[in-house]
Amino acid sequence: MKVMNIIHDSVVDGPNLRTVIFFAGCPHFCKGCHNPASWNIKNGTEMTKAEILAEVERNPLTDITLSGGEPFFQAKEVSELTKDIKKLGKNIWIYSGYTIKELLATKDRYYLEMLENADTLVDGKFMLDKRDLTLHFRGSSNQKVIDLHEFQSEIATLKTDLDYR
Ligand code: SF4
Repeated sequence: MKVMNIIHDSVVDGPNLRTVIFFAGCPHFCKGCHNPASWNIKNGTEMTKAEILAEVERNPLTDITLSGGEPFFQAKEVSELTKDIKKLGKNIWIYSGYTIKELLATKDRYYLEMLENADTLVDGKFMLDKRDLTLHFRGSSNQKVIDLHEFQSEIATLKTDLDYR
């Protein structure tokens, strides 16, 4: 996987202390993006799943946030990673420029698996004209903090449909 950066002990990317993995590659090009260097996947450093998991396991008490860039840009590999992080019992947040509606509509197996393994999605592009510094864990008011547990039965149904294709 191509990774821009991994930081530890963040308190701004979800509740509690979190290790944040910033993935490279983003197709959204939001005006006012916090990290335009992440748009080009070639700017990332290649890391194996084992190398990322070693960072994830550095502190047994921290939870995990997948950010970017766009974590769904490398969904095949990242979905495998989320499976292993979930097995460690860690809470997973994902920041995406896609909305939950757009992600579910793709019916992409790897997207669905990421949503299945994660606990929370912060969804939608960053919109400069809706920027609000008073918001917790999101940059603009169009973005939503979504409890993915409420979508698990819909995700399971979509996955079952895939299995019958
Ligand atoms: S989704 Fe995030 S990383 Fe991608 S352009 Fe928008 S703000 Fe930047």
